[in-house]
Amino acid sequence: MAVSVPPSSLSRDTQARKAIDAFSSTVPLPASRCTDYASSMSFTVHGIGVSGGIAMGYAHLVSHARLEVAHYVVPKSRLQDEVARFEGAIAQAREELSILRRHIPPNAPPEFDAFINVHQMILEDATLSEEPRRLIETQQCNAEWALKLKAEGLISQFLKMEDAYLRERKDDVLHVVERVMKALLGQPGYGPATLGGGEQSSILVAHDLSPADMLIFKQHQFGGFITDVGGATSHTAIIARSLGIPCVAALHHARALIHEAEHLVVDGTQGVVIVNPDKQILSEYRLRQNQWELERLKLKRLRTTFSTTLDGTPIELHANIEVPDDVEEVKENGAMGIGLFRSEFLFMNRPALPDEDEQFEAYRRVAREMRGLPVTIRTLDLGADKRLDGDIRITNNPAMGLRAIRWCLAEPNMFQIQLRAILRASHYGNVRLLIPMLSGAAELEQTLHLIEQAKKSLDADGIPYDRAIQVGGMIEIPAAALALNLFTRKLDFLSIGTNDLIQYTLAIDRADDRVAHLYDPLHPAVLMLLAGIIRTASKAGVPVAVCGEMAGDVKLTRLLLGCGLRIFSMHPANLLAVKQQVLKTDLELCTPIANKMLRSEDPERIRELVERLNA
Ligand code: PEP
Ligand code: MG
Repeated sequence: MAVSVPPSSLSRDTQARKAIDAFSSTVPLPASRCTDYASSMSFTVHGIGVSGGIAMGYAHLVSHARLEVAHYVVPKSRLQDEVARFEGAIAQAREELSILRRHIPPNAPPEFDAFINVHQMILEDATLSEEPRRLIETQQCNAEWALKLKAEGLISQFLKMEDAYLRERKDDVLHVVERVMKALLGQPGYGPATLGGGEQSSILVAHDLSPADMLIFKQHQFGGFITDVGGATSHTAIIARSLGIPCVAALHHARALIHEAEHLVVDGTQGVVIVNPDKQILSEYRLRQNQWELERLKLKRLRTTFSTTLDGTPIELHANIEVPDDVEEVKENGAMGIGLFRSEFLFMNRPALPDEDEQFEAYRRVAREMRGLPVTIRTLDLGADKRLDGDIRITNNPAMGLRAIRWCLAEPNMFQIQLRAILRASHYGNVRLLIPMLSGAAELEQTLHLIEQAKKSLDADGIPYDRAIQVGGMIEIPAAALALNLFTRKLDFLSIGTNDLIQYTLAIDRADDRVAHLYDPLHPAVLMLLAGIIRTASKAGVPVAVCGEMAGDVKLTRLLLGCGLRIFSMHPANLLAVKQQVLKTDLELCTPIANKMLRSEDPERIRELVERLNA
């Protein structure tokens, strides 16, 4: 784990705290607000639909680490559980800080250590670690609320201090409280939104959620998610889709407008949220919800159907996964293999990184469960919006910074551990290695060299692995797309990461909802790059897949087929809908239309042709 402090003229201690600050949004600490259950004004909020379907339920306001929390009464019978939840969160925060301390590199400035010291002292202060417990017991309130009240008291004491240095410590209190709040988020307990029918009737309402936060929700069964920020191909959105529940992002003010326990309809297909819907709206949406579910049920019949176009061309449909548990859904949807295992999610939401054995077990489990079908494990793609716990490094341009393979090459020890774990798993199934975000020849050479080194170390230890393991690269940087032969010469297969390819081609941050309208898979430049990669790779005889979100969008299936794509990898929930589209497609009809699109630079004309393709 790398820990660094950004240079500036501020004291290093302040820098370190500011570094953590920058992780959180700039929303100031909101004024205390009691839950307003009585509010019933109906209104509609529009955002970006990032995961289709319709959910109806009650708002449950969450925070990824902020002090804007819900307030509710906990029944006497649940008070001890609530206290235990609070104590568990304090223990987790304590553990995180001590792990952070253990990972400070030897060359880190001494102030850094002092900064962690301060946070440990604040955490151990009775105001935060003891008094909220008493408040929970005496006032029957939830743990978050008790912590918030006590934290506000502590912060106002710091604000009254004359010494500027001590006054500034209020920010450290905030950091510590956020850490505990985040731990509470991972230990959901009783809440008003869970009263009426359990988690499934809860709609999570958040200002922002990181991919790591979203991963926590994989273990729960919420009805839907809505957030103020985020783009449709952010990793948070991708995980939301992988949960298979409706989600709307980029709602801007929903978190502030919606109150705890308010009734919501979430239309993840249209990107609309209706707050306090009337009876007529509710019955209309119930109808739409039934239709949606019926459609999905019908698709299940295609699970074992062989996927070919009308003219008999076989099309491979693979699945993307984030954690080993996702394999079940991969099988339920009849995928031909795993085209993208985003291994970095194994490294999140934990104070210590998984060691070689733990990683090996996870990869082997997937390889075994897939029974000989290909399992493409992407090496760590950390950085940008995917961060390790405790990583406080801040850069101006994280998407273009030390991310993915660049990060791995900068952390060769950690990379070796992962390579050895993947190679070891290759002995137990059909495992392939996929390298993310390659940009040039030197990077590729260095990576291949490290793979050879990992193989040699396994040989020296007498550990078996698949000696013919295939190594592929993700093409997601325009430079790699344009100089593709650098990669076709050395790699066994390629996979196009359209999420990043579009981000980098159009220079728009995929996680920023303010530029989300510019994210356009049909931009002529994107289409030219895509078609060029497929053409060049096919000429070189190197199999090429698309594993970005474009692969799972049925509206684009025929376009991709027309461009020559024969291997798709997508979230399992989209697979059967894409298969249905493949089964109805005649390549002889769609190839000339796709070619016309590639010759056009007129966005209107391109959209017309897409409609013609899908007619
Ligand atoms: C992509 O960029 O398209 C991709 C599949 O990788 P990720 O979404 O994880 O960046
Ligand atoms: Mg990518």
